[in-house]
Amino acid sequence: MILVFVETDLEGAATEVSLEAVTFARDLSAAGNGVPVDAVVVGDVSDDLRTELAAYGVRTVHRVTGDDVAAYSGAGWGSALQTVLQAAGSVVLLAAGTDRGNELMAHVAARSGASMAANVLSFSGLSPFVVTRQVVGGAAMEEMNLHQRPAVFTVAGHAVEAKPADVSGAGELVEHTPSIAAEDLVARVVSTAQPEADESGALTSAKIVVGAGRGVGGAEKFDDVLELTELLGAALGVSRVVTSAGWRPHHEQVGQTGSRISPDLYIPCGISGAIQHWAGCSSAKTILAINSDAEAPMVTRATYAVIGDLHEIVPAINEELRKRGYGS
Ligand SMILES: Cc1cc2nc3c(=O)[nH]c(=O)nc-3n(C[C@H](O)[C@H](O)[C@H](O)COP(=O)(O)OP(=O)(O)OC[C@H]3O[C@@H](n4cnc5c(N)ncnc54)[C@H](O)[C@@H]3O)c2cc1C
Repeated sequence: MILVFVETDLEGAATEVSLEAVTFARDLSAAGNGVPVDAVVVGDVSDDLRTELAAYGVRTVHRVTGDDVAAYSGAGWGSALQTVLQAAGSVVLLAAGTDRGNELMAHVAARSGASMAANVLSFSGLSPFVVTRQVVGGAAMEEMNLHQRPAVFTVAGHAVEAKPADVSGAGELVEHTPSIAAEDLVARVVSTAQPEADESGALTSAKIVVGAGRGVGGAEKFDDVLELTELLGAALGVSRVVTSAGWRPHHEQVGQTGSRISPDLYIPCGISGAIQHWAGCSSAKTILAINSDAEAPMVTRATYAVIGDLHEIVPAINEELRKRGYGS
């Protein structure tokens, strides 16, 4: 049996990336003679969630409850998942490649003495079980042989499309209330704050998008680019290098694993135009690339390009825009 850790949102629905992980598990099941796919959820499981997961081909939902898991703790929830894994007799455990998914899978793998593969994109065989995963922030791929059991891994966000299996009804519900050792509850969440506003909707519908990539040079060097964004009444879209480095939030990312944009004008500053970024911006009607490298793929594909240091070019554009009354 294949067990998928499913995360839920504030409304108790399965997150998109968890449904992608379930879809990945189903593909794995199909390649392995249809072994069942089960889900494990910590906390509330509504009838709607059971129906939704069943529609994605989940046979049984394992619900983990109890005071010990009421608040999130990596070690505590990891211990609970390992208990479910053993009780259910599963040989594969996977989750979406979120911070929480990666943390929990690492805990279970360490407890089981198994390896863990983070951010898996695909599998190429079952015996041996070989997965391809992205490493170095998505800049390189690695093949990894998960020969130990349980095989534990996470699925990279948007590596597969979430697709229902067209099954109706609700799956079986199995309750688990594992007791967690006190030492596993030492580090646990004691309060939560309002999440940062997700403005990706504004990005996908924006008529003008200013892009920013590694070429900006650091989180503290965005002033010029942000000013250009403001002067044009544009939205800011960034490359994955920028979000991986923590310079800007993930909801601003454009590309295969970010938002797809189709503005009238896209101004990528210091973005090379890797295929995964291009996947998200190729529908822009006009592209004005600003880059120091005249051979960068973004430059060669752009409608217009300005070659040079963006920290000289962008302030010059801003000054000209201000002279022409933009932003006032
Ligand atoms: C599965 C997978 C999914 C991915 N998904 C995405 C995705 O959704 N979005 C995404 O963006 N990437 C994604 N990537 C990563 C992608 O492959 C690239 O690594 C990334 O897009 C590169 O970002 P960048 O252009 O900012 O950096 P780089 O490729 O390093 O390019 C930096 C550019 O800045 C220029 N530059 C440097 N200094 C200056 C300066 N002072 N002035 C002007 N120009 C300058 C350089 O000439 C260069 O062209 C994904 C990768 C994988 C494997």
